[in-house]
Amino acid sequence: MAQAIEDFDVVIVGGGIVGLSAACVLAPMVKRIALVNQSPASAWSAGSDYGLRVTAVNLASQKLLAEIGVWKDIQQMRCTPYHDMVVWQSLSDAEVHFSANMTGHTSLGTIVENNVLVQALTLHLKTLTNVSCYEPSSMQNFSELSDNSVLIELENAEGQSQRLTSRLLIGADGVHSKVRSCAGIATARQDYQQSGVVCTVLTEKSHENTAWQCFSEEGPLALLPLAAKQCSIVWSLDTAVAKQMLALSEDDFNARLSAASEYRLGGLQIASKRVSFPLSGSQANEYVGRRVVLLGDAAHAIHPLAGLGLNLGLEDLRCLQQLIQSSDRELGSERILQRYQRARKTENSAMQKSLEAIDKLFRQPQPWLRQLRSIGFSASNHCKPIKMAFMRRALGIPL
Ligand SMILES: Cc1cc2nc3c(=O)[nH]c(=O)nc-3n(C[C@H](O)[C@H](O)[C@H](O)COP(=O)(O)OP(=O)(O)OC[C@H]3O[C@@H](n4cnc5c(N)ncnc54)[C@H](O)[C@@H]3O)c2cc1C
Repeated sequence: MAQAIEDFDVVIVGGGIVGLSAACVLAPMVKRIALVNQSPASAWSAGSDYGLRVTAVNLASQKLLAEIGVWKDIQQMRCTPYHDMVVWQSLSDAEVHFSANMTGHTSLGTIVENNVLVQALTLHLKTLTNVSCYEPSSMQNFSELSDNSVLIELENAEGQSQRLTSRLLIGADGVHSKVRSCAGIATARQDYQQSGVVCTVLTEKSHENTAWQCFSEEGPLALLPLAAKQCSIVWSLDTAVAKQMLALSEDDFNARLSAASEYRLGGLQIASKRVSFPLSGSQANEYVGRRVVLLGDAAHAIHPLAGLGLNLGLEDLRCLQQLIQSSDRELGSERILQRYQRARKTENSAMQKSLEAIDKLFRQPQPWLRQLRSIGFSASNHCKPIKMAFMRRALGIPL
């Protein structure tokens, strides 16, 4: 027997942090929402080891999560605010020190495990009576049904199909977005031929609730504070070098990592398994189609060196929320979607290009460039307007 087609105002494909946040943000604004997610994230439990994927959540994202009503839950689960950020060039005295003291805020951001974010949002979603979850279930295809609705085809884990209709389809299904490809939207991809090596380490010295980032010709290394004397690292290396790092014995890895961090936090000792993620950038040619909008990594992916990828995805969501709220147009109208695209695409694309340029610049070994970078660091460290401009962008809020 054919299954009944269910009708929604908004169907969101993707239950990552952006898709879950989108369901929570839009729930008070529209009548019926469906969230379709292919693979549920593993649950977080108190007392568990730190998850390997963590995010530096900036102040703008914290505000959005607080408005949803989950920021307090996240704080009670597990997270580490950081009030300072030190960025330096290896083998030199060149460094820039950013401090919350300059901003009127108590922190510059918070390090949160991705599993904690997903869990807090999922628990909140369960309290929303107008959101239906299809999980595990994947979107297979969609087509235009009429001028104001799309027909979406799903398949669940047992291979059964299900059809939904919606006035707006949100693609928050990550970098390999099926929504994007089914909408016929091409994407420009940059394979950085790098991998991000990620693990948890014990530090000899206190991390001082500071996010540390060293730029070297090998690639940027970030030490993100967790509990006392524990950090999560993201080390962006050429893929061949990353492979070697994963294959090293623990002692050799500890020695290489401690040397790469120039012993800022003393010796570092691995405290988890090591994993790596291939790094690539992407920019969808369009962020919208008829009755379709892309959010987060489905629209754009950037180098992780500034810890901004997810934060930009939540800025996309904030923008869409404001456009829907302030418009008297119907949800999914061409005008709202075009305004969204204009507001977000230029900004995200500029960020992607700037990060690629920074990464490239710091990997150049020429001595004159090293000298030039040192001058740039020193100027930035002593020039308050430059520092404030960097912080405004990183924190995502006016200062
Ligand atoms: C090493 C590393 C460190 C990073 N650190 C930071 C940081 O500090 N700060 C920061 O802001 N960003 C950071 N990022 C970037 C950030 O992780 C991503 O931008 C963010 O996770 C993207 O979230 P998303 O919800 O858009 O996509 P995803 O997390 O990829 O979620 C996509 C979801 O869609 C689902 N899905 C896919 N296809 C389908 C389908 N056909 N049907 C149904 N569901 C589907 C998947 O199951 C998944 O749940 C980092 C990235 C890396 C690689």
